[in-house]
Amino acid sequence: MTRRHTVLIALVIASVWLITGCGTKSEPQASPQAEGIESASRVAFTLGTVAELRAYGPGAEEAVDAVVAELERLTAALDRFSPGSDVYRVNAAAGEWVRVGSETLALTRTALEIARMTDGAFDPTVAPLVDLWGFVEVPDSAPAEGQGPTALLGRRPPEDAEIRRLLPHVGYEFVEVDEAGSRVRLTDPEAELDFGAIAKGYAADRAAAVLKEHGIDSAFVNLGGDIFVVGGKPDGSPWRIAIQHPRPRGPNDFIGVVSVKDRSVVTSGDYERYFEYEGVRYTHLIDPRTGYPQQELASITVVAPTGTQADALATAVAVMGMEKGLEFLESLPDVEGLLVGVDGRMGMTSGMEKMVELRK
Ligand code: AMP
Ligand code: MG
Repeated sequence: MTRRHTVLIALVIASVWLITGCGTKSEPQASPQAEGIESASRVAFTLGTVAELRAYGPGAEEAVDAVVAELERLTAALDRFSPGSDVYRVNAAAGEWVRVGSETLALTRTALEIARMTDGAFDPTVAPLVDLWGFVEVPDSAPAEGQGPTALLGRRPPEDAEIRRLLPHVGYEFVEVDEAGSRVRLTDPEAELDFGAIAKGYAADRAAAVLKEHGIDSAFVNLGGDIFVVGGKPDGSPWRIAIQHPRPRGPNDFIGVVSVKDRSVVTSGDYERYFEYEGVRYTHLIDPRTGYPQQELASITVVAPTGTQADALATAVAVMGMEKGLEFLESLPDVEGLLVGVDGRMGMTSGMEKMVELRK
């Protein structure tokens, strides 16, 4: 472990405070004083999750409407199950070049960059394994239990032989991008492209961009735990984002509050989608190199300048584990992380110490 980051070894203390839902949330009592300022808020079901939007300033209503429309567009565009989507067509034509829109091209390029820099811990071709394990997320279906985590009942791990059969077809090196021709292809016909670990973060970036285009400079976007805050609160102070406790001992238990402006805060957790079999928890965060879910980290929060980065990196760090994950995050400029192990140990990067207040 590097010296540059400090690892706090602490037992996560359970408690009884109030926040619901996934990953990260705004602190309930921290709602901005927006008297006299035009504001709009919206809760929409989109991208397979509950989107919570708040915007402050002139034109807030129209801005928020435009964000909802943008999120709906992205739900269709990035869904690997929608027959018209670029991702669907790339997967269906595996082996052949497929012309895609500039957005898909750019997101594929970004996903591949992150796959390379994380040495494959994040891998946009992990979908066949996700399906085999039964952790499929269908963006236009309603969440099973409101916006809460999904404990999948009655599941058991797949056969090891099945996992080993799929492993050779998982690998970001099978994804090729032809920039000039705006084309993508999968060189292994059994490989599949999926943006599940990055799409909500990208959508949060798009939401922020739409808000800014509408002249909004104070807003809060929460896409089921993938948060982007535009500017600070209307009074200019930082937004305060509570990080959900991975093993809550009461409703809305959280581990700490991160104060940020103009940042994305994304949490991945082993409690979001999982099942238990013979006393072992199997979560949706899969190590693409072994084909098995990671079992070391319960909660991974990444703060970054973009949601795309924060989302993909949170998934990657989940696979890297505590030590490697912290070392990796510490090596990236402007990116911070707070990790909680399944054993309750907590670790954070040096910059995170300055922005987080842990619950005592
Ligand atoms: P997130 O909620 O952003 O942590 O993403 C989790 C989703 O990403 C899972 O439900 C899978 O569909 C997919 N996924 C799981 N493991 C990986 C991985 N190592 N790399 C890329 N995507 C993954
Ligand atoms: Mg992710």
